[in-house]
Amino acid sequence: MYQSFNPTTRTLMGPGPSDVNPRILSAMGKPTIGHLDPEFIRLMDELKGLLQFAFRTRNELTIPISAPGSAGMETCFVNLVSPGDKVVVCQNGVFGSRMADNVRRLGGEAVIVEQEWGRAVDPEALQKALKANPGAKIVAFVHAETSTGARSDARQLCEIARQSDCLTIVDCVTSLAGCDVDIDGWGADAVYSGTQKCLSCAPGLSPVSFNERAVEVFKNRQTPVSSWFLDLNLVMGYWGEGQTRAYHHTAPVNALYGLHEALLILSEEGLEASWQRHTSNHLALRAGLEALGMSFIVPEPERLTQLNAVTIPEGVDEAAVRKQLLQQFNLEIGAGLGSLAGKVWRIGLMGYASNPKNVMLCVNALEAVLSQYNVHINRGEATAAVLAAYG
Ligand SMILES: *Cc1c(COP(=O)(O)O)cnc(C)c1O
Repeated sequence: MYQSFNPTTRTLMGPGPSDVNPRILSAMGKPTIGHLDPEFIRLMDELKGLLQFAFRTRNELTIPISAPGSAGMETCFVNLVSPGDKVVVCQNGVFGSRMADNVRRLGGEAVIVEQEWGRAVDPEALQKALKANPGAKIVAFVHAETSTGARSDARQLCEIARQSDCLTIVDCVTSLAGCDVDIDGWGADAVYSGTQKCLSCAPGLSPVSFNERAVEVFKNRQTPVSSWFLDLNLVMGYWGEGQTRAYHHTAPVNALYGLHEALLILSEEGLEASWQRHTSNHLALRAGLEALGMSFIVPEPERLTQLNAVTIPEGVDEAAVRKQLLQQFNLEIGAGLGSLAGKVWRIGLMGYASNPKNVMLCVNALEAVLSQYNVHINRGEATAAVLAAYG
């Protein structure tokens, strides 16, 4: 017989989803109401305001798309790219490749700025590509590459794109709430994020934000947006301002309660305080991992604090270690993706999961498990290093 599903409580320190704050889970368990109920409309208005706060933007069109981060990515491309458009895509990991795939599927031409995995996007390489492609309409890049742990300089890349009169599409899925995101300050035109990384909400929603320049583009397209569900001209009829909210699709009501609570928690903590917390826990984790003999693949100035990609010690079966961590300690860490598969672990410290208890658990569990292999470890050193890092 089938029974109710009762998942084990895990500690989620992979590339996402991250641990969900219990406050968010209980918000999601509140009674479902109609998606056109005046009370729900009030929640939607608050959500827009809270998202504007999190993204640091005044963009009117700042809403959650009713699907995960990948749908936010697709929303940006499907609305802004028309057949024949040239789009410069900076590619320094898995998610940049997906952007290029989006462009090609829409009949656009993807000009790739290739960057070694584990490094930030090179601003000079972007400049060169724009010079060589004067007809380019859009520049797309990932702020925080979750596949490698590298953070690119979004402000500078947006500035370079603007000088060539290009719109920007910026992936902020892993950066939002974890490190400095400043949509209006950067002058980014279209951005998307996710709920399950540093917002510590359940997966399944994608906050997006479009400025006036970007809105003009999809309002004045020569060809209709090829996706019905993600066509913002239609979605705005439901999420837009004004009294007349028309049915587009049934909003994921309870998921949106969760996002509202997640953003409220972020506003209570404050953006800067949240970024600072991610930094201090990253530094402590780093001290512990380095004491265990692991090293970071991303050079320090380009490193994310919320996603730590580290080398695997010689002679260690990396999949077996992850399996043991999950089975014995209920601790999930991430494997390498793409060209980094089998070469790195990706240890997330995202949102609610970015805390000293998780840092200690991860370092201690890794020390215990790695000690079974022929790896040189001075027992106790890593814990001391973590403590010292916290001061
Ligand atoms: C996780 C992630 C995505 C995709 O989000 P999903 O919710 O898994 O669809 C896109 N970009 C980056 C940088 C991510 O980390």
